[in-house]
Amino acid sequence: MFGLYLHIPFCEKKCSYCDFYSLESTEHIDAFVNTLLTEIDLRSPVMPSGACPAEGRVEAHTSVFFGGGTPSLLSPEAMSRIITRLHERYTIAPDAEWTMECNPGTVTPERLAAYRTAGINRLSFGVQSFTASELTFLDRIHDADEAVAAMTMAREAGFDNVNMDLMFAVPGQTMETLSYNLSRMLQLAPDHISAYSLIYEHGTPLFARLKKGLITPTSEDIDAAMYALVITTLTDAGYEQYEVSNFARPGKQCKHNLTYWHGENYIALGPSAHGFIDTTRYWNHRSLTAWTTKVNAGELPEANRETLTNEELCTEYLFLTLRADGTPIAEFEQRFGVDLRSALQPDLGHWIDAGFVIDNGTTLRLTGEGYRVCDEITVKSIQFVDRVPSSLRSSG
Ligand code: SF4
Repeated sequence: MFGLYLHIPFCEKKCSYCDFYSLESTEHIDAFVNTLLTEIDLRSPVMPSGACPAEGRVEAHTSVFFGGGTPSLLSPEAMSRIITRLHERYTIAPDAEWTMECNPGTVTPERLAAYRTAGINRLSFGVQSFTASELTFLDRIHDADEAVAAMTMAREAGFDNVNMDLMFAVPGQTMETLSYNLSRMLQLAPDHISAYSLIYEHGTPLFARLKKGLITPTSEDIDAAMYALVITTLTDAGYEQYEVSNFARPGKQCKHNLTYWHGENYIALGPSAHGFIDTTRYWNHRSLTAWTTKVNAGELPEANRETLTNEELCTEYLFLTLRADGTPIAEFEQRFGVDLRSALQPDLGHWIDAGFVIDNGTTLRLTGEGYRVCDEITVKSIQFVDRVPSSLRSSG
């Protein structure tokens, strides 16, 4: 797997909880598109090891993800220009997944049909809730009816792969309103659901209100009960949980997210975007101005980059795969020279006995019960890196 991520840093209005980089004004959106095309050109010769265009060994991208921000603020024409340029500069698999994040308040049937024609084949709607007071609390620009209409429009435009985001542990939310939100979402039959607990990110308006004592956050017990309700409701409805927060119909797992969670390479473009190639992580300037200045000077707009040690790569790989669809035992040994089953003892035995982890012979995977205590398990499991082999720590 090999991903491509493009960050589109514009929103109609900032949501109170959001710490993604985005601007409320779309004044510079046309100039942004031109600069993004230039960054595509600048970045395209950078290939991961093992792929050499000159020798005809090219690793095709299996997923392209337009995130933000609100990519659905881009006109279909702009999206089409970007997609055309990506095809010119990169080798993209014919069956690649092309996702665009959409705010339900920004779409029309015509726009969605045009995005589909341009090559987008997967949509991700930030729905969050169907309860008016919760949407207002989160400062969302859409209401429940618009979320329903967006899904109808998406299906009519030919999208057969649609995600919806759902949020729980919103102050004021009850088990009843969460249950209502889940049932409204299930009535729309999305192919994929991402369900997240509200996080109070530093620097957001919501965090400031929390610090001033203006908000009573949901208690840990209720948060846990809500998460349990989400897991039970969605798995009973036929969705497979394949990551702590992600649920999919069979065959509809998000390829792009699996690229992240399997420790595979992804190139990232746009302000604040983070990429990962082989052992190096880079991140672009989190400022439209700084990013634009660099790109227009013909330089990669990276704020910084770091090369991960073997120990860090091992820790990250174990953490990400265990929280997702499981850690492949043979591949782990091949990558890091560590017998995972032995390294995780005696904890692994306890987790299996308690029904939190399954060893199916090839993979160690969390169960539904295991996902509920996944923070505890993942934190404990990565501690083995401190105990075992010195070869792991010295070979990075
Ligand atoms: S629409 Fe999405 S990216 Fe924009 S502010 Fe809201 S949550 Fe953040």
